[in-house]
Amino acid sequence: MLNLVLFGPPGAGKGTQSAKLIEKYKLSHISTGDMFRMHISNDTELGKRVKQILADGMLVPDSITIEMLEEEVQRNPEAKGFIFDGFPRTVAQAEALDVFLEGKGEGINGVVQLDVNQEEIKHRIAERQKVSGRADDDADKLLKRIDEYFSKTIHVLPYYEAQNKVTKVNGIGDIEEIFNNVCNAIDLLK
Ligand code: AMP
Repeated sequence: MLNLVLFGPPGAGKGTQSAKLIEKYKLSHISTGDMFRMHISNDTELGKRVKQILADGMLVPDSITIEMLEEEVQRNPEAKGFIFDGFPRTVAQAEALDVFLEGKGEGINGVVQLDVNQEEIKHRIAERQKVSGRADDDADKLLKRIDEYFSKTIHVLPYYEAQNKVTKVNGIGDIEEIFNNVCNAIDLLK
């Protein structure tokens, strides 16, 4: 299996690059943000529990997120590997993922960090909001999400750096060029 974490702040291009990666490497894509949004639009029990949290730009509690992610992995026993997009967002999630994958005789092969500065993120998300209409792309909610990223999620990097798994890729520029650099990083893992 090839299990990858695509890491970066909101608006770094994780969704865009994931879409291209799953096609090239035939991996299964798990975006916890997409999953939560799906639950909310289907008005499921889980959706009801997390709706306000997402609207406020806060992180969903680890226990809920980890359980949902593990179920999704279990639902895909035939997968050649996974791209984890937007997960893990806390060190507790990263640790839980390692334990979970180890239990299956697997692990995370590599982490690709899309490096994008705050100014660019704010600009991109303002543009995205015009088309996506995502409530959490609103300016004040975005600030909360960026705050969550720099207070909690950023600590996931040293966790994986200690395992020598992180490759940093410049996330600013032409999408194809970024994709090539991401692929080069992945090909070194195989
Ligand atoms: P995203 O689409 O990845 O930007 O995620 C949208 C929102 O979903 C985030 O702002 C959080 O409220 C929630 N979310 C997504 N993934 C996670 C996660 N791994 N842990 C906690 N909350 C998450």
